[in-house]
Amino acid sequence: MEVRVRYAPSPTGLQHIGGVRTALFNYFFARANGGKFILRVEDTDRERYSDESLQDLYSTLDWLGIKWDEGPVVGGPHGPYIQSERLPLYQEYAKKLVDMGKAYYCYCTPERLENLRKKQEEEKSPQVGYDRHCRNLTEEERAELEKQGIKPVIRLKVPTEGSTTFHDILMGDITRENKDISPDPVLLKSDGFPTYHLANVIDDHLMGITHIMRAQEWIPSGPLHVLMYEAFGWEIPQYCHLPMVMGKETDPVTGEVHFAKLSKRHGSTSVRDFRAKGYLPEALLNYVSLVGWSYDSETEFFTREELEKVFSLEKINTAPGVFDYQKLDWFNGQYMRRRSNEDLAQLLMPYLKDAGILKDEDMDKLLDFVPGIKERITLLSDIVPMCSFVREYQVPSVEMLIPKKMDQAGTLTALKAVYEVVKQCMESGDSDDQMQQKLCDLAVKLGIKNAGVFNPLRIALTGLQVSPPPFSCLRLLGCEESYRRIECAIKVLEA
Ligand code: GLU
Ligand code: ZN
Repeated sequence: MEVRVRYAPSPTGLQHIGGVRTALFNYFFARANGGKFILRVEDTDRERYSDESLQDLYSTLDWLGIKWDEGPVVGGPHGPYIQSERLPLYQEYAKKLVDMGKAYYCYCTPERLENLRKKQEEEKSPQVGYDRHCRNLTEEERAELEKQGIKPVIRLKVPTEGSTTFHDILMGDITRENKDISPDPVLLKSDGFPTYHLANVIDDHLMGITHIMRAQEWIPSGPLHVLMYEAFGWEIPQYCHLPMVMGKETDPVTGEVHFAKLSKRHGSTSVRDFRAKGYLPEALLNYVSLVGWSYDSETEFFTREELEKVFSLEKINTAPGVFDYQKLDWFNGQYMRRRSNEDLAQLLMPYLKDAGILKDEDMDKLLDFVPGIKERITLLSDIVPMCSFVREYQVPSVEMLIPKKMDQAGTLTALKAVYEVVKQCMESGDSDDQMQQKLCDLAVKLGIKNAGVFNPLRIALTGLQVSPPPFSCLRLLGCEESYRRIECAIKVLEA
């Protein structure tokens, strides 16, 4: 049997880390089993729908390199894959259920339902929800209501006795008393739109979905869905509810640690945010895949291609996964170092352009700058504060320029000599290593520590106590601006 899985988001917000994790697990499971990964857009909640969310879904998967075999844009044999384009199907199947005696028309007005709710509340009635009023309407009563022109909804007949069980690959059997299942939920609304339950079950069946992998928060829907499969007489797919993605919180007063479903309280949650901050797709993909899944207790680095081979359901943890922002940062730093200098420069340039620090024609300078900072950079956006000295320069004070255990006159002599060496190196096209060697030789000649030559140079160039290495700064500023700044610093020391 071919494995067919789906990611079925509702475009009602930006793609969240938890959603993306569900998408990845489905995708990897399909790939590892030679199956199909289907994308289905569950957009029947028109009030919460937004086109921005739909575009965000596509661009997120695209950025992560996740291609769907069937779905919007690419099509497939079971299309359309956007639920709002499948309304006639849902209507047809809901009517079928009515004809089979498994569902029924309900004509209750919103007012009646509201009064019912209030009454149940006031009486603290053990029975909550719909009272199944229309379940036993006679043909005559129904005809009368139809004649009044009331547009009915269709409700599922949930058995009032017994229990419903479904099997979950990770959690085992899950059983619910039928009396605890929502009493006869609406499947088709009076405007002809399906509810989530109807559309979800019909599509999973018609699209031949074999395994339903989704977040654990959908477990409560499980028994109801099983009842629907049974009502239709359809085979029930395998369920695999994924452990939640949690965030960690520390109480500022007591220091106690709490875990709660990952939310904005904990930090960024949308992939768009992570992307804007300058996380690399391979780092996010690698880390997110390890939230709730592991290959063994050691291996941490996985490319997408590797995960497409080694992913398996058996290795999903049953305990909730904790999203650790620091760990993600660590991964990102690691993946930054794995990128070529050229790649990194290309990725960094937009940040510097946005900040008004560099222009496209400064690409060569940026390329020369990258090797010096590659080991220190965690996020692409870190480049902006690192390079702010290019635009904002404050001539350093005498105190800043003088290194420890040196005086003003000695620093002046050193910086003048450094300037000559730097000029000569830049003009003759020396590499960073060659320049470094010549400056070390100079330190020996002057009888001072290396810091005595490097620090005044770096501070002269940036006006900052903390900054990238001096050679990187030289490359980024270019000769003209670098010389101007060194000359300024020399004047300060001469004063
Ligand atoms: N549309 C649902 C969601 O947004 C799908 C849940 C499911 O996978 O069944 O998560
Ligand atoms: Zn009713």
